[in-house]
Amino acid sequence: MDDLTPPMDREAFRRMVYTGQLMKVSGVLAALALVATRHVSWLDLALCSALSVFTMLGVTAGMHRLYAHRSYQAHPWLAAVLAAAGTMSGQGSVLIWAAVHRKHHAHGDQAQDPHSPEHGGVWHAHTGWILKFYPEDLARYVPDLLADPVLRWQHRHMGLLLWAGLLFPALVGGIYGGWWGALTGYVWGGWARMFLVEQSACLVNSAGHVWGSRPFDTRDRSTNLGLFALLSLGDGWHNNHHAFPGSARHGLTWFQLDPTWWVIRACQALRLVKDVNVPDPSVVARRLL
Ligand SMILES: [Zn+2]
Ligand SMILES: [Zn+2]
Repeated sequence: MDDLTPPMDREAFRRMVYTGQLMKVSGVLAALALVATRHVSWLDLALCSALSVFTMLGVTAGMHRLYAHRSYQAHPWLAAVLAAAGTMSGQGSVLIWAAVHRKHHAHGDQAQDPHSPEHGGVWHAHTGWILKFYPEDLARYVPDLLADPVLRWQHRHMGLLLWAGLLFPALVGGIYGGWWGALTGYVWGGWARMFLVEQSACLVNSAGHVWGSRPFDTRDRSTNLGLFALLSLGDGWHNNHHAFPGSARHGLTWFQLDPTWWVIRACQALRLVKDVNVPDPSVVARRLL
């Protein structure tokens, strides 16, 4: 696997992306229709919440802080679980996610940035870029990750993992509620959950480069958005992150809530995580504007 270009042309890839987006939007509309007609169960909501947190952590703790930035080391099985959870979020393989993200950091808010609001507007940064995206010329950003056999396997089987994340809530819903339970579990724990998690991540790319505070002077337009910080499990402290991209902790003070950091710390206490990189408080203080 020398590059990340898929074995299909641009048009076929675009059709696949559009189908995925259509399914996510349809999932949310179906979920809302179930609420309006009082056909949603506590199990549906529990599945949606639990799988949202699990797959979101796959993105924030896994794809982002572990793989794209190497801000800490994880035990091999924890690293594999996070990689699987990240792909279940519907945001592609770790290799593609990390390559796009490293490109974003390398060209923050410049013309080559894949999703900058400065070059294409807020809609482009939020979702528009995904609709035009074709993974090519990305391998040079992730030579270290391409050497990882687990990630290569995960990249080749991302469809399998994606469907596991969709069918698991259907299975649990079916065990407790028969065919109807399977359907509502599939809608709420599957596609609607995927939409919600993707929106949280997309908000960091769009709103996190437009609105909010900029306590640090970075070469880009990244901002801290406390309002979205919890929704994105801590990745909303985006100006902090662009200032200290190698830090496993994004909320740099006690009041900047960063649930992903709490999970990394808990895993460190359990000896599942080591070599956690956090900037010295004096270095942070010196860089404050
Ligand atoms: Zn950014
Ligand atoms: Zn980053």
